[in-house]
Amino acid sequence: MRLAIYPGSFDPITNGHLDVIHRACRLFDELIVAVALNDQKHTSCLFSIDERIAILEQACEGIAKVRVAKLNGLLVDFARACGANAIVRGLRAVSDFEFEFQMALMNRKMEPDIETIFLMPKEEYTYLSSRIVKEIARLGGKVDAFVPACAVRALAKKLSGKV
Ligand code: ADP
Repeated sequence: MRLAIYPGSFDPITNGHLDVIHRACRLFDELIVAVALNDQKHTSCLFSIDERIAILEQACEGIAKVRVAKLNGLLVDFARACGANAIVRGLRAVSDFEFEFQMALMNRKMEPDIETIFLMPKEEYTYLSSRIVKEIARLGGKVDAFVPACAVRALAKKLSGKV
């Protein structure tokens, strides 16, 4: 049984994240998409942890191998407790590399038996980030091409102040 964890803040999930999820599902029997309560990269999220989980669950509804979970605490402890063999991360550009490299080596130091696997998305998603999508949505731009429909609806609702 090959089980991997894909951790991230997913604030909200984008088509780039989804692309990485589909690629990981081809390599593993099960994929736990773990939504981080605290993330080194993000000091504050637009969506609460429960909202981010709900959006992810809708986006991954038809993907049988995927389970969505809350990640609170150290990633390697969570991965060990789940019995995971690997951590999946997405690499978009060289700019991602330094942070990802440092984190992968630190995780390996703490848990040598869990491998970090980097997956590259389709070229058209390499410029995509949750941060840029939120920026566009905040300024009134269309984000349908960048995030799944459930995230488009959640962004519209959140930014119109209904949530
Ligand atoms: P972001 O960096 O967009 O704020 P996260 O912290 O949720 O997103 O990222 C979780 C993981 O997904 C990281 O490994 C990140 O590099 C990767 N990722 C984010 N966006 C993309 C994308 N468009 N294509 C591939 N991987 C991505």
